[in-house]
Amino acid sequence: MVLAERVHKAFGSVEVLRGIDLKVEAGEVSCVVGPSGSGKSTFLRCINHLEKISAGRLWVDGGLVGYRQKGDRLYEMREREVAEQRRDIGMVFQRFNLFPHMTAAENVMEAPVQVKGIGKAAARERAEELLRRVGLADRMETYPAQLSGGQQQRVAIARALAMDPKLMLFDEPTSALDPELVGEVLDVMRGLAADGMTMIVVTHEMGFAREVGDSLVFMDDGVVVESGRPRDVLNDPQHARTRAFLSKVL
Ligand code: ATP
Ligand code: MG
Repeated sequence: MVLAERVHKAFGSVEVLRGIDLKVEAGEVSCVVGPSGSGKSTFLRCINHLEKISAGRLWVDGGLVGYRQKGDRLYEMREREVAEQRRDIGMVFQRFNLFPHMTAAENVMEAPVQVKGIGKAAARERAEELLRRVGLADRMETYPAQLSGGQQQRVAIARALAMDPKLMLFDEPTSALDPELVGEVLDVMRGLAADGMTMIVVTHEMGFAREVGDSLVFMDDGVVVESGRPRDVLNDPQHARTRAFLSKVL
């Protein structure tokens, strides 16, 4: 579903990604960990072309991200094609970024109505189903300010799911939450994984990574230092940098 080959990303003269290789099969959950500044968020942003890579290749669902190939040549996609490609990728951030002036239901309905042109009644029905899935069927008409952080994050997940993504990207979805609210968001993500969603999850929740992840990727300084089955990486890290990092977070 996702294939990265020697992906580089530079901001000016600073190379933030220095040759990332990664493969995530359909239905897999890949958890990404690493120190602050190692390039985790930048890499996620490259996957949905919020950042343009400087070198290497990146595919999502068999298609090159941001480029069309004709023969041997690559052509940059127009903004409209990029937007189309991005529709298949749901993204959930540390900050929930809900529209504050819209109810939970309206937040979830917004993209299907505005982007896909789905009728309001059908979109509302689907929103109800998605909010039920994240345990918020009784909060349809509630505004974000009246929801807890965990509830807001669950609305954000429902909103991402409303576009029927093939891939979900999570960037530290529980890092901004009070500790007692982390579990309810992880539970929703666990459910998504069980339903077969392909997910890349940047997280500090090692328990989640161990239990739900099919793979655990350790990034440092713009490269994948090591990756493998979560329990292998966690129990028997092969690199000194991985050991040093894990000793701080476990
Ligand atoms: P954290 O765990 O703190 O979220 P991260 O692993 O997600 O860190 P990134 O946010 O990807 O790290 O940042 C990697 C590096 O790239 C950092 O040094 C950051 O300052 C730099 N960087 C990120 N975005 C930009 C930008 N738009 N312009 C310049 N530098 C940037
Ligand atoms: Mg980050």
